[in-house]
Amino acid sequence: MKINGHIDSHNHLAKVLHTHPDRINVWIQDALDSGIGFFMQGGIDPQNWQHQIQLQERLPGQIGLCFGIHPYFASERSITELDPILDQLAQCIGQHSGNSELLAIGELGLDFRPDYVKNGTESQIHALEIQIELADWTGLPMVFHIVQAHLECERIFSLWNPKNKRGLMHSFSGSLEQAEYWMQHGLLISLGGPVCHEKNKKARRLATHIPLEFLTLETDSPDQPPPEYARGENPPKTLWQVAKTIGELRNLDAEEILDISNSNFLRVFRKDRKNV
Ligand SMILES: [Zn+2]
Repeated sequence: MKINGHIDSHNHLAKVLHTHPDRINVWIQDALDSGIGFFMQGGIDPQNWQHQIQLQERLPGQIGLCFGIHPYFASERSITELDPILDQLAQCIGQHSGNSELLAIGELGLDFRPDYVKNGTESQIHALEIQIELADWTGLPMVFHIVQAHLECERIFSLWNPKNKRGLMHSFSGSLEQAEYWMQHGLLISLGGPVCHEKNKKARRLATHIPLEFLTLETDSPDQPPPEYARGENPPKTLWQVAKTIGELRNLDAEEILDISNSNFLRVFRKDRKNV
C-alpha cells in the first residue's frame, strides 16, 4: 500500500457519495489540495459496502475499505434478522480479500444511548461478537464505535480474547483510563472534531496525554464537525483543524501530528504486516 499525503483515519465519504453526490467532488478536491491523500471508511451496512467500492473505483489508491455492521444498524434488527446479514458480511469480505485496500472490519461496537437500546442490547452485542470472531478468522484489523458502553465492550472483548488485536477506536469518547485498556491491547485511539470544542475537556485530556504512538486523527466526515461547521456538513479538509488543535495541546505543529498519525495508521493497517 503506497499512500501519498496525509491520512484521514475514519470518515464516511462513501455515504456522502450516495447522499450528496454534488458535494463529494469539491470535498475531495479541497482535501487533496490541502495534502490529505487517503480516506479510510467506516462501514455501516451492505448497501454502504457497495458505496465504498464505488468510491474506491473513482479514487483508486486513496480509499481504505472497511466492511462491517454498525451498532446503529444492529440495534434496529433482531438477531434472526441480523444473522443472514452477518453471513453476507463474511461473504463480502471473502469476495474482496484480494483487494489490497480492504483494510478492516467495522464499525463494530456498542452504542448504548437511549435511541439505540429501545429494543434491548442483545442485537448489538451479537453483531459485535460475530464481528470480533470474523476479524480473528480473517486477521483484519477492527474499527470500533463505542458510545456509553465502554465497560461492556471491554468485558466482551476480554471474554472473546481474540488473537488478532489490531485496529482503532474511532472518535474515542471514553476516559483516559478507559483508553488505556485498548492501548494495552495494541489498538489505536483515534480523535476527531470533538477535540476542537473547547468545552470538551474529556477529549482534550485524551489528546494531551495519550502516548503519541497510539494516536490517530480522523474527521468522521460528514459528522462530528469542529465548531465552524454544522453536523452533516463537515468536509474532510477539517483534518487540519483537528491536527492544529492537538498540535497546540502537544506543542507540535499540525504537520508533525499528522505524520505521527500516518505512521501509526500504517503500522496497524498495512496489509503486508504479519499478524502477531
Ligand atoms: Zn463513523
